[in-house]
Amino acid sequence: MYDFHCHTTMSDGELIPTELIRRMAVAGYTEMAIADHADFSNVEFLIEAQEKVKKSAGLYGIRLFTGVEITHVPPGEIGEIAKYAKSLGAEVVVVHGETITEPVAPGTNQAAVSCPYVDILAHPGLISDEDAGLAAKNGVCLEITSRNGHSKTNGHVVNAARRAGAKVVVQSDIHSPDDIISENMRNLVALGAGMSKDEAKTVLSRTSKEILNR
Ligand SMILES: [Zn+2]
Ligand SMILES: [Zn+2]
Repeated sequence: MYDFHCHTTMSDGELIPTELIRRMAVAGYTEMAIADHADFSNVEFLIEAQEKVKKSAGLYGIRLFTGVEITHVPPGEIGEIAKYAKSLGAEVVVVHGETITEPVAPGTNQAAVSCPYVDILAHPGLISDEDAGLAAKNGVCLEITSRNGHSKTNGHVVNAARRAGAKVVVQSDIHSPDDIISENMRNLVALGAGMSKDEAKTVLSRTSKEILNR
């Protein structure tokens, strides 16, 4: 199981990286990324810090990808910070999309799906067909989330992705230990978002290779 959208005490999560990694391993995950909220103030720190726990992750059977979640950065700067994060060694760049529960700047979804350095657009809210089409064309995954609030538009995201032929991923946007979802709950989130059993199976069994193939 994968989850490339996890938060730690390095931003607004409750667990330090190693405790989160251990809990993910116990829950059955094998591939994950710490994608803490990033802007120009902390992007270097987040990326450097994760290198220091890679060995610990490996000892627990987790392949840890270095990640960031670019959060509330103005759309005009998303391309620049995404490119910078990759140049510093980020393997997963997530962009905090236009969820309906926060005042994310309009144009954030479009900046993310147009950028060659972005891998995943998290909780993209009421994403337009045009932006879903760009996600499909550019290989950016759209996120279906188990997180309260952001999950209100999961059904819309699945439909838009299906029409556009865009890839989706199911993730939990973990902030606390209770946010780590079981294999069964991942499946229920996928089905609840409107995926068929076959679609859910495909989406839930994706590997990092497929998701991060940019
Ligand atoms: Zn957060
Ligand atoms: Zn997040």
